[in-house]
Amino acid sequence: MANYNPKSLKAEEFISHDEILKTLAYAEENKNNIELIDAILEKARPRKTDTGYHCEGLTHREASVLLACEMPDKIQKMYEIAEEIKLAFYGNRIVMFAPLYLSNYCVNGCLYCPYHLKNKTIPRKKLTQEEVRAEVIALQDMGHKRLAIEAGEDPVNNPIEYILDCIKTIYSVHHKNGDIRRVNVNIAATTVENYRKLKEAGIGTYILFQETYHKESYEVLHPTGPKHDYAYHTEAMDRAMEGGIDDVGLGVLFGLELYKYEFAGLLMHAEHLEAVHGVGPHTISVPRLKRADDIDPDAFDNGISDEIFTKIIACIRMAVPYTGMIISTRESEQVRAKALSVGISQISGASRTSVGGYTSEERPHDTEQFDVSDQRTLDEVVRWLMEMGFIPSFCTACYREGRTGDRFMTLCKNGQIQNCCHPNALMTLTEFLQDYATEETKQVGYNMIRKELEKIPNEKVKKIAMQHIEDIKNSNRRDFRF
Ligand code: SAM
Repeated sequence: MANYNPKSLKAEEFISHDEILKTLAYAEENKNNIELIDAILEKARPRKTDTGYHCEGLTHREASVLLACEMPDKIQKMYEIAEEIKLAFYGNRIVMFAPLYLSNYCVNGCLYCPYHLKNKTIPRKKLTQEEVRAEVIALQDMGHKRLAIEAGEDPVNNPIEYILDCIKTIYSVHHKNGDIRRVNVNIAATTVENYRKLKEAGIGTYILFQETYHKESYEVLHPTGPKHDYAYHTEAMDRAMEGGIDDVGLGVLFGLELYKYEFAGLLMHAEHLEAVHGVGPHTISVPRLKRADDIDPDAFDNGISDEIFTKIIACIRMAVPYTGMIISTRESEQVRAKALSVGISQISGASRTSVGGYTSEERPHDTEQFDVSDQRTLDEVVRWLMEMGFIPSFCTACYREGRTGDRFMTLCKNGQIQNCCHPNALMTLTEFLQDYATEETKQVGYNMIRKELEKIPNEKVKKIAMQHIEDIKNSNRRDFRF
């Protein structure tokens, strides 16, 4: 059995099975230990400092105790603290994005994914550069500025050169006032050299879901193809960082293995990145297994209820307070609303999970990876967020100003977000309202912006933001951001 060592570069040492089992036993033993639970909750709480807020975060053991705790009053406390943390570091802004599926060719055998090699019923499709352009125009016409590109793993059909060509095409399209300003990438684990190429192509975050941290299950769930190699997959983020990518996004696919095991593994992965690279994950995603072509989620035993799902999100929020959290349209409007209040900071809107889906009138199902639960338009999602008091943000400034990795974390920790991200969110929301929103959404939006401008603490910043918003409304666009 490998020894646990968060600083090791070996998957089996930084995600030690033995340490996870000990963590689960410790959490089970202490799940009714009120004194310990109160102390952990107290540790998680944000503290006011001269420059903003400070949060200590929680270790995987501490957070696992909270996750195991079933006392309703303590769970309620967890939700309150998670919300406090989110407001302290992210304010009421929610970053918007959409996935763009490039190709569903795949040589892997993942048992939960409809793109698996043996699925002969799903049509295979790969976008040409002309089709990528058309998809990007459709996404820009909705108002999207930030994409996550998705592709199956296939060295012949989807080599890195193809992915790089697509990124170049995406950044080159400027339709009307449209502009994709940040391309995040969710492709299979690859080499340091390829990560370097992605970095040079100007990607934002490199996202790779672990699917499961449980090695034995991982090998059963990925019986064939390059993804079968647990260590190569689990060590991918270290290679990505070695290749110069400093924003990486983690996630597990909930439903495959026991959620308490995955939760501990996920936090150990975050601790490992912090210990080795000095910066934790930029984002954590929380996908849940969905029905898809040739895939029946009921065939997997570890599905989780909406209540447990919400608790997981709140516990992640308390453990890694500076990490953004992403929820996709796999989840319904109701689940997303609750998740937003306990820690989610980024959501997708109007997603189509099929290859070429954005250029079809109807949401096509033929090549899709899973059916989406939240089927609203982007305009509807934006209005819904504002009606709940959230500011939908289309901002990509940090990435364009080089505020990535630990530079972003510093901004976040110093509480400068109110003078920086907040006005940027309002300015990009104005662009959205002006260019793409319905009259009803515009009205809700401009009311909100007026009130939110008043919250900018620095008077000079406030004045500049107000002027800039007026300029956008008067069609006087400048490439400006804080
Ligand atoms: N092929 C790449 C890889 O291996 O990481 C790219 C990722 S794939 C396009 C995006 C993610 O969708 C997967 O990592 C997996 O977690 C998730 N996924 C696959 N099948 C799913 C299903 N049936 N329901 C929900 N999510 C699914």
